[in-house]
Amino acid sequence: MSLSSRFSYLDGHDPDALSVEQARRFIRSQLRPLSMCERVALRSALGRVLARDLIAPCNVPAAANSAMDGYALRHADLEATGATSLRVVGTAMAGRACADVLAAGECVRIMTGAVPPAGCDTVVMQEVVRVEGERVVIPEGQLRGQNIRLAGEDLAVGRPALRAGRLIGPAELGLMASLGFAELSVFRRLRVAFLSTGDELCSIGTPLADGEVYDSNRYTLFGMLSRIGCELLDLGVVRDDPVLLAETFRQAAAAADVVISSGGVSVGEADFVKPLMAELGEVLFWKIAMKPGRPLAFGRIAAGGGGDGGAWLFGLPGNPVAVMVTFYQFVREALHLLMGADPPPVVPLLPAVCECKLRKVPGRSEFQRGILSQTDGGWRVRPAAAQGSGILRSMAEANCFIVLGHERGPVAAGDVVEVQLFDGLV
Ligand code: AMP
Ligand code: MG
Repeated sequence: MSLSSRFSYLDGHDPDALSVEQARRFIRSQLRPLSMCERVALRSALGRVLARDLIAPCNVPAAANSAMDGYALRHADLEATGATSLRVVGTAMAGRACADVLAAGECVRIMTGAVPPAGCDTVVMQEVVRVEGERVVIPEGQLRGQNIRLAGEDLAVGRPALRAGRLIGPAELGLMASLGFAELSVFRRLRVAFLSTGDELCSIGTPLADGEVYDSNRYTLFGMLSRIGCELLDLGVVRDDPVLLAETFRQAAAAADVVISSGGVSVGEADFVKPLMAELGEVLFWKIAMKPGRPLAFGRIAAGGGGDGGAWLFGLPGNPVAVMVTFYQFVREALHLLMGADPPPVVPLLPAVCECKLRKVPGRSEFQRGILSQTDGGWRVRPAAAQGSGILRSMAEANCFIVLGHERGPVAAGDVVEVQLFDGLV
């Protein structure tokens, strides 16, 4: 079934005025994750997606051990009321087996991480005991089992420690190391080709001629794609020439899983991406009800040279801010889906008080560039100075999007709005 006929089944909406959510849902519904995987060394797995469930081959921790520096004892030896004096008969050190066998009324000194002697079920932290020569006085009120970490309480042997589809971050690396994995299976990297289109574009390193602008989109795309961890294929600047563009798209589709272009998707005289697509594959052109980023192309293009592959195409608008907004709002999730991330990572929307009024009409989503700051009264946000979709400075000054939903009308100073932070902890 063709892309466009599947498209018509969706909500019966008008491709000339698609909401952000409808476009996202449609893109999501089309993409299937890559299936090829490879084995890599543990550190190389950072930022990759786990391809197989990882079953714990051992317990973590492997044996019960002390969570404190203190004294290990048998709870049954403690007086029911009042303090108990116990004789200290040895020391249990982390990493060394402790062969001490305790008689009634005895205990051992124990260090954090050390395995308690057989029969010891309780550790009392050293700060609360009184040392009297070879004996310690344990105050009343100790609970059986306290300060002892149980074998397998972190990860139990035979259980899935991580599921396939997990995007591997620092915690996952540490967790896999704690299980002793030196290498693991991850999905292969996604290959992404990207290019800029436009006769006015000049590449850095060359002086600007009259009417030219430096091509900045390939650099923001390079940055955004690198952060996601894709294998990159930079196809440079392509003139507004339908023959050249067609050739470039064919080559790109043969070499990559995804092709991302910027520029040329609106309805100007030099906007050739659209007419080309009918020739090259099946691509939908949307006017999305959003600001910035209205025109967007999405679909499949066939590979040249008899290659079977083909690639997904995202034809982003040319305006530098629109490139970033459409990348973050549509392409980022799509790439994660193709990479096999399940679920793809989400960047949450958080409430903040807006410091000033904002113009907004219902019927489209807006992604204004905002500056979020913490005050005694909580999180507050104000728009970055200039909001034009060509003004890249607004992205560099901002630290968040102010996300104004489809139905939302004007914002008054003091209203709560939703923001999406550019930076995340991991
Ligand atoms: P277009 O979508 O091709 O009509 O381009 C819209 C606006 O974005 C025009 O002002 C272009 O000059 C500008 N533009 C397009 N591509 C780039 C690029 N790669 N770098 C900087 N500006 C661009
Ligand atoms: Mg153009």
